[in-house]
Amino acid sequence: MVVDMDRCTGCQACVVACQAENNIPINTETIFLQRRVIEWIWVERYWEGEYPHVRARYIPLLCQQCDNAPCEPVCPVYATYHNDQGLNVQVYNRCVGTRYCANNCPYHARFFNFWQPVWPETLRHHLNPDVTVRWRGIMEKCTFCIQRIRRVQREAARDGRTLQDGDITPACAQACPTDALVFGDILDPQSRVAQLAKNKRAYKVIEDLGTGPNVIYLKKVDPYAPAADHDHKH
Ligand code: SF4
Repeated sequence: MVVDMDRCTGCQACVVACQAENNIPINTETIFLQRRVIEWIWVERYWEGEYPHVRARYIPLLCQQCDNAPCEPVCPVYATYHNDQGLNVQVYNRCVGTRYCANNCPYHARFFNFWQPVWPETLRHHLNPDVTVRWRGIMEKCTFCIQRIRRVQREAARDGRTLQDGDITPACAQACPTDALVFGDILDPQSRVAQLAKNKRAYKVIEDLGTGPNVIYLKKVDPYAPAADHDHKH
C-alpha cells in the first residue's frame, strides 16, 4: 500500500470504513480513556507552530505488513505468520492472548480484545458476514481486507481471467475521498503502487529497525517549508 501524505486531509473516512467493513467494536469515550481502543487504521495528528500560525499534520497508520515481522517469532502458538502472498496474517482460533505480538510490534498496530465485543441493537444486523467477529482474549489487526482479496481471487478464477491492477481495494482505500491510499501488487512493476513507490517523496516508517515494512509513505509537499527542506517545488 502507498499512503500519500500530501493528499490526506485527516477526515478519518478510512477509519470509519475499516470499522464497518471489519466488524470492529465501537470505541466509546470510556474505552479511549482506558487506552484500549481497537483501530486497525488510525490517523495521528500533529500540530506545528504557535497560534495563530498553526498547521495540522496527519499520518494514517496501520499494520505495515512487515517482511521481517517482529510480531511473528514471539507468538508461542504460531497464531501469526506470513502467508504465500506476503501478508502477515492472524489465525484467531489459534490465538491464546499472550499479547507478546503486540508488545513486539514497533508500530503499535496490534489490538487485544479485552472485552466481549458488543454493538447497539440497531447495528447488530449490519455486521459483515465475510469477517469473523473476534472474541474476548483474541489479538487482531489490519488484514488488508483479506476477505476482499479472497473474493476477487475467487471471482477471477471462476471467470477464467487474471487479476488486474486495481481489482482489489481495501475498505480504507475505497472510502478515502482524496485517493490518498493506494493498494496493489508492489512486485508488479506496472502497478500503480510500484510506480508511486519510485517517487522521490517515498519513505517507510522506522524501517531502520529492519522490519521491512510494506506500506510506503509519500511525504507531504509543504509549500511553507524552507527551500532546502522540500524537494518538490510546484
Ligand atoms: S506492523 Fe506490527 S503487526 Fe504489522 S506486521 Fe509489522 S510488526 Fe507485525
